[in-house]
Amino acid sequence: MPGKSRLSTVETRLLSSAVQVAGEGIAILTPAEEAIGPRILFVNACFCKLYGVEKNEVLHKTLAAFGIVDRHHAIFNDMLEHIFENEPFDAEATARRKDGAEFELDLQVVPVMDSGEPTHWVAFLRDITESKNQLLMLRRQAMFDPLTDLPNRMLLFERFEKAIDNARSAKNMTALLLMDLDRFKEINDTFGHHFGDTLLKEIAVRLRNLLSPNDTLSRLGGDEFGLFLTRASDPSDVAAVARRVLDSLQQPFAIEGHLVEVSASIGIALYPTHGTDARMLLRRADVAMYAAKEANVGYAFHNQEHESQTPDQLALVVEMRSAMERDEFELYYQPKLHVNSGLMTRAEVLIRWNHPKRGLLAPGAFIPIAERTGLIKPMTDWIIDRMLKQCREWHDAGAPVHVAVNISAKSLQEQLLPVKFQAALDKWNMDPRFVKVEITESSIMADPAHALAITSMLQSMGVRLSLDDFGTGFSSLTNLRQLPIDELKIDKSFVMGMTASEADTTIVRTMIDLAHNLGKQVCAEGVEDELTWRRLGEMGCDLAQGYWISRPLPAGDFLAWLVETFWGLRQVKRSLRSVAR
Ligand code: C2E
Ligand code: CA
Ligand code: CA
Repeated sequence: MPGKSRLSTVETRLLSSAVQVAGEGIAILTPAEEAIGPRILFVNACFCKLYGVEKNEVLHKTLAAFGIVDRHHAIFNDMLEHIFENEPFDAEATARRKDGAEFELDLQVVPVMDSGEPTHWVAFLRDITESKNQLLMLRRQAMFDPLTDLPNRMLLFERFEKAIDNARSAKNMTALLLMDLDRFKEINDTFGHHFGDTLLKEIAVRLRNLLSPNDTLSRLGGDEFGLFLTRASDPSDVAAVARRVLDSLQQPFAIEGHLVEVSASIGIALYPTHGTDARMLLRRADVAMYAAKEANVGYAFHNQEHESQTPDQLALVVEMRSAMERDEFELYYQPKLHVNSGLMTRAEVLIRWNHPKRGLLAPGAFIPIAERTGLIKPMTDWIIDRMLKQCREWHDAGAPVHVAVNISAKSLQEQLLPVKFQAALDKWNMDPRFVKVEITESSIMADPAHALAITSMLQSMGVRLSLDDFGTGFSSLTNLRQLPIDELKIDKSFVMGMTASEADTTIVRTMIDLAHNLGKQVCAEGVEDELTWRRLGEMGCDLAQGYWISRPLPAGDFLAWLVETFWGLRQVKRSLRSVAR
């Protein structure tokens, strides 16, 4: 068996001079023969420079000579443990020079083994203060908001996760509050961005002073702040903090010679009541914040009613907020045909969401959420604008398409709807007679007096009205007569049932007659086969819409359909003829 190769004298000398001139501190130690561990046999020049010592000051000393500060005694103990187990060790710790100055030490200790026993230990020591500071600075840049110097969203999240872990083991409660300023955009637009930035800084200072040092306050971006409380013992404490925050913002801020008052909305989610992980709680607080804003109540706790429970829907709530900016919504158009002539008269506008991960989403997946969170308002504004823009393009191209847009109950409650509608009509120079608004029975019934006021205003502007999903609600005859409705739309559940059920056929026939008796047009939706189409014709139904005629189509495909199909072509030809006349 070949013996262990021994170093020649020359090699030893070479090696020792290499060690002597090495760029890092090197110490050679005895094995750990005593309880206090190894002692120093040799140190190189760099080691002396690192600690500001002479060689003889450290020779035969214990590892205490490495100067690891008392507060890092755990690291020191860990090192000794490794050495007693003959295991290599490395760590970073704060160390002290002879003159008392501290530095960040990178330390590596490796055994030199012979026949399974360490004959020596070699320690490599480096001052990493500078690179560590650079790292800290980078981390700071990545974790703190440069404007307010508060932790940013990432750091809030990281700390919140830790706080949840602690709360879990201590069986405590933790509260997350998300705050969004009201009308901050207006302030920015009126006084300028510099003013807005100063205001955000002042808000940060005021809130920081208001909160206890244990609470983490963070700026999440824009005019959104987040904070979590680790010392809250019950929801009323948390509510009190929310009130204090809102009150403090109401004291005017003096900025650049102006006095501004700020109001805000706060959403609150509690661990463990409202969720057990940071992501879920963040979303829930976000949804609650929107609910608070919508209801204008200052603050709101997460509430099951704000959302349905599935995390999927929670994710949608959050994603929907930026989807508009990212242009992920798209309008589809489904033709409505005149049954008698078979001509295309108008198109119903149906929104879709091109979700980056989930693909094309139907409105059923997000309109109810948009309604609950108040996002339906900006969404409806967007829909009206896009639809009229599209209409303008088609008209300019010689296809005078009429459009029908769905207005949800929430939007119908908005006082400004008629004004906004008029502004959009003016913007795109569209004749209101080409536009119809579809309102469901149930949204009218939610507040009939208000619905009457808004629909009357729309009517006086020249916009037509259609009562959607007719037959599924409980509209009274009085309502049907009073409301300025031009058209009843028979709900697709009856129409789709016609081929299989005599009762549905009777209901559809009765609805058609009722509409005509009231002097209104009637439209059947959900026409899925030719038989239904023919029957509707026999019963005198005015308009029909359904997959058998065409599915809802993106704008480009819709125009292509219009040119290609029998129904559409005649319509376009006719329109072109009338343009020529
Ligand atoms: P709605 O107003 O009753 O719209 C008709 C729905 O029936 C559409 O579903 C349409 O794609 C579907 N449909 C049309 N023909 C047929 C057919 O032959 N068979 C079957 N099974 N279905 C057919 P969609 O696009 O999923 O919209 C669902 C609902 O979402 C709409 O019901 C409407 O209440 C709402 N919605 C759609 N777009 C908008 C919008 O832009 N704003 C608002 N507020 N609500 C919208
Ligand atoms: Ca509709
Ligand atoms: Ca409908």
